[in-house]
Amino acid sequence: MQLVTEVRNSRPMRNHRSEEHASPRLNSILLLATLLLLTPALRPQSTPSINSDRLQQHIEAMGAIGKDPVAGISRVAYTDADKQGREYTITLMRAAGLNPTIDAAGNISSRIAGSDPKLPALIIGSHVDSVPQGGNFDGIVGSFSAIEVAQTLAEAHVQLRHPLEVLIFQNEEGGLQGSRAISGELHEQDLNQPTRSGKTLREGIAFIGGDPDHLSAARRNPADIFAYLELHIEQGGTLAAEKIDIGVVQGIVGNARWDVTIEGTANHAGTTPMNERHDALLAGAKFIGSVNQIVTSMPGRQVATVGKIQTIPGAYNIIPGKVILGLDVRDLEESRIEMLFGKMQDEAQKIGQASGTKFSFQQVIDDQPALCDPRVQQLIQNSAMQLNFTAKSLPSGATHDAQSIGRLAPMGVIFIPSIGGISHAPQEFSRPQDISNGANVLLRSVIQLDKGI
Ligand SMILES: [Zn+2]
Repeated sequence: MQLVTEVRNSRPMRNHRSEEHASPRLNSILLLATLLLLTPALRPQSTPSINSDRLQQHIEAMGAIGKDPVAGISRVAYTDADKQGREYTITLMRAAGLNPTIDAAGNISSRIAGSDPKLPALIIGSHVDSVPQGGNFDGIVGSFSAIEVAQTLAEAHVQLRHPLEVLIFQNEEGGLQGSRAISGELHEQDLNQPTRSGKTLREGIAFIGGDPDHLSAARRNPADIFAYLELHIEQGGTLAAEKIDIGVVQGIVGNARWDVTIEGTANHAGTTPMNERHDALLAGAKFIGSVNQIVTSMPGRQVATVGKIQTIPGAYNIIPGKVILGLDVRDLEESRIEMLFGKMQDEAQKIGQASGTKFSFQQVIDDQPALCDPRVQQLIQNSAMQLNFTAKSLPSGATHDAQSIGRLAPMGVIFIPSIGGISHAPQEFSRPQDISNGANVLLRSVIQLDKGI
């Protein structure tokens, strides 16, 4: 229909009434335009659309692999179910005309040549492993949409200038292992770590066809990557609650974690009067309340959680002498995390003074925020608008492979709604229409990105 509209719009503006009776000349132009649209070979180069029925069938078929007897999907990396899921993914890639290979880290990669062999690759992808008893949409939507995009372009005979690479990262859920190997953040000495599968990382990578002894071969050079795009379910409830079609991700939040140790005095729970106690757990409880109060007292999307608590010695009849809390703070801005943490430390000092306890903080994780490239964000936004979708900018509270690849090249992430905001659970669900919308935004963004940023 686009061409018809353009023909109409290209007429010089004249008396409005005369437009109601189209001239014979206009009629013949419209007829020609209609014929062109009905004849695939003659159709002008417009953006094709993905085949949503095919994409949906592939996602549903994957849902039968790794079905957990208790609930949901368990395709935990390096298990038999993970291997079967990867084999099915490879089958889809072959059917799409891609030629998949496995790199030294166990990632599945395939490439379609671009018209200019000198250009670096435009990469799209995600992961196909899952958490135990998770859902069938986290990772799968992005992986299968990337394959669908490549297939759609091939079927429409659209060749990009850049090589298009579909990249399926291994073991995302166990710490972005595949993408960190590509960015050079996974090292030889890390390979003896145990994984959820029971295998070490080294054994796991070998199990899925990688070559852990030559891990560094998986590493990529920033100059070889033009940009990276990932479609993913939101895993939060913002888009679904606000009935917004597409999320334009601003970045993946930074994540800082501390062990908070509170030292008081262990003593007899029966004989120590209430006014003579230095109760480490009571001080910890006040601190937990203040963490929540600090984070909710200002506007913004910052989050903080105390999700872990260890009481020493931990008995009914002993006033807790020592407590260790696990504190987790996340935001898109590193400086904001620092500011929040500063306030938490001040509050801890006050609670310590009032209760005769001592707080100390030991940082255990300091993952920097990974910002999406502003030009790529704009391009995703424009693509969504051109397709008449509503879109909203938002941060990603969950980690994604995009953050590793973002260390090498400009990256962008597209979100679609997760119904009820549920993820990493059997109830995880995204509607076929939302998946189709997201895949079409991915396709259009790929075509636009190929023209340059
Ligand atoms: Zn994921």
